[in-house]
Amino acid sequence: MALVNENYLRLPGSYLFSEIARRVNEFKKINPDADIIRLGIGDVTRPLPPAVVQAMKEAVEEMGREETFRGYGPEQGYEFLTEKIIENDFRSRGVNLSADEVFVSDGAKCDTANFQEVFGLDNVVAVADPVYPVYVDSNVMAGRSGDFDGRGRFKRIVYLPCTEENGMKPDLPQTGVDLIYLCFPNNPTGMTLLREELKRWVDYARENRAVILFDAAYEAYIREEDVPHSIYEIEGAREVAVEFRSFSKTAGFTGTRCAYTVVPREVKAYDSSGKAHQLNALWLRRQTTKFNGVSYPVQAAAAAVYSEEGKKQVRELIDYYMENARIIREGLKAAGYKVFGGVNAPYIWLKTPGGMGSWDFFDRLMREAHVIGTPGAGFGASGEGYLRLTAFGSRENTVRAVERIRQKL
Ligand code: PLP
Repeated sequence: MALVNENYLRLPGSYLFSEIARRVNEFKKINPDADIIRLGIGDVTRPLPPAVVQAMKEAVEEMGREETFRGYGPEQGYEFLTEKIIENDFRSRGVNLSADEVFVSDGAKCDTANFQEVFGLDNVVAVADPVYPVYVDSNVMAGRSGDFDGRGRFKRIVYLPCTEENGMKPDLPQTGVDLIYLCFPNNPTGMTLLREELKRWVDYARENRAVILFDAAYEAYIREEDVPHSIYEIEGAREVAVEFRSFSKTAGFTGTRCAYTVVPREVKAYDSSGKAHQLNALWLRRQTTKFNGVSYPVQAAAAAVYSEEGKKQVRELIDYYMENARIIREGLKAAGYKVFGGVNAPYIWLKTPGGMGSWDFFDRLMREAHVIGTPGAGFGASGEGYLRLTAFGSRENTVRAVERIRQKL
């Protein structure tokens, strides 16, 4: 008799985005002519930059010629890409990495979900709340969460509330934790940590021999000077932090798939006898066993992000979305809403008026303005009373959505 992994059965029923789709479909059945604007799901809408498309086409042509055909590539990524990553994303900010510390992959979702595999099941996991749901769910599947308490939280996970009182920045944990997921700029709040705030986390991890899993998928959206782009800009972070990056939101790769994870050689975890082990070696072992690398045309496309034209085109993409973010942020503020984020991130975190529940406000926004957001409660218990809007729509729809919210609500 085949037995299931019962950890999967602990996951609460409906996935956030399927529940949103269900409600939208129901609304559309009754209101078939409603002109719905979706500022909910965090997918990009602008096409790939031309430099990326050109590089991918050329790489596909190479794959079709005997002299330039390539079979299996290195599981950690081609050096032509890792070198560009190191030069442009790190060395330019004073961070030195070696090629074997960068692991190219097909997504930050897979990497943030899979990385927990190299840690023992007894580790206590801490997550900011609200946050991207993958960190909690992947630890639930692995068996680190304990039971669901029925009120949106798992008993063995330490939640670090991000609230209006602490400026949406988590406080250090009051009880011992071993693995700490931090995501800044944050999805869903759009908020960031300043250099000295991030340093407190690095110091905590060093003092407690904990590991920080730092998700910097939205790094390219940072505009303010004192916000670090990489955790390795903080002294000592090489000893305690793994960093996840993605081309998805930077260069429109959500459907093309390319990302990377940095695992410095100094980051360690311990066995039951107290002996230290390099996470870099464990992650390499994991990847070479379970992953066969990103396709050559996609890595060639990702490398084009770092060409002169690629950089310019990517900057234009991000400027486009950040102008949307400004329009949403300022429009809603002018209409009297309390908003967070949207300055260093493509997310705007809106406080629901009059203490309304997030799903109630979601329904009201859909019914009265025909605008779809994402209920904050879907990102964790502390997201209750908030709604997330994204800057990834078209300019026209963004302007229309803000107008409608101002007029109808
Ligand atoms: N990390 C965060 C915080 C995200 O919001 C997302 C996507 O929404 C991802 C990772 C996933 O990135 P990728 O498309 O590289 O899998």
